[in-house]
Amino acid sequence: MNQPITVGVFGAAGRMGATVCRAVVDDPALSLVVAVDPGAAGRSLREVAGVDVDIEVAGRAEHLDVTPQVMVDFTHLEAARHNLAWCAQHRVHAVVGTTGFTDDDLARFRGSFTGSNCLIAPNFAIGAILMMRFAEMAAPYFETAEVIEYHHDAKLDSPSGTAMRTVERMAAANSNWAPDPTVTHTVAGARGGEAAPGIRVHAVRMRGMVAHQEVLLGTTGQTLQIRHDSYDRTSFMPGVILACRRIADHSGVNIGLDPLLEL
Ligand code: NAP
Repeated sequence: MNQPITVGVFGAAGRMGATVCRAVVDDPALSLVVAVDPGAAGRSLREVAGVDVDIEVAGRAEHLDVTPQVMVDFTHLEAARHNLAWCAQHRVHAVVGTTGFTDDDLARFRGSFTGSNCLIAPNFAIGAILMMRFAEMAAPYFETAEVIEYHHDAKLDSPSGTAMRTVERMAAANSNWAPDPTVTHTVAGARGGEAAPGIRVHAVRMRGMVAHQEVLLGTTGQTLQIRHDSYDRTSFMPGVILACRRIADHSGVNIGLDPLLEL
């Protein structure tokens, strides 16, 4: 049997990072070797993430004494920018779930990941990837479209990376959306934000939710609704594990899990 791929997790004490730690430990093809999280530095990963391994959480990547083959990042935007620079510099493959990167960030990553690969996926749930694909396929047949994303009430950025990626793909598939007829805005923002010409996005933040999205498309006499729900953070884990296993075969910087799913 091949040696397991060595993996580390940035944000190991966070909601997603701790779930990733557990999923990596449960996968026979992967071996969790390091964990980074400044707020949990010096503590045991067993205590922080509930995994049955003896790893002390490091405060920064620079403090690691083992360099894994793959690092997974579920942190915050500014932290992820720093972590990805470290991965590129140390030729470590990066599997990234953190959302909010700008086009300038992506251009910089494309320039820096020359000795290892980087996969940035705004959504690791396979159902969400299919939702984006279906929305892109439907887009040319409709004149109006709006995206409503729903997340838990601790999410720091809006709209979600998934909503932005969905809109980008729909905009690339159809550039002739009907103009917004609204002339009076009694409450600012009631019509959401125009994420691409003619496509509006609405971000709901709701205690009790995890990650959900509806894509609404309309044309004469009919509408189509495409909805995906992640009820639990484990919904993202098959995609994260697949990415850890396959990232070495996908060179450069890839956005979205689609190439790994061969969609
Ligand atoms: P979270 O619970 O706040 O976890 C983030 C963790 O990262 C925190 O423990 C934080 O520590 C830690 N951190 C901060 N700076 C760091 C650094 N420099 N190095 C390592 N760790 C650092 O957030 P979450 O809910 O897990 O979400 C994390 C990110 O994943 C967000 O951007 C979210 O939108 C995204 N997300 C993506 C997907 C997907 O499928 N792609 C799914 C869900 C969430 P402190 O609290 O001490 O700052």
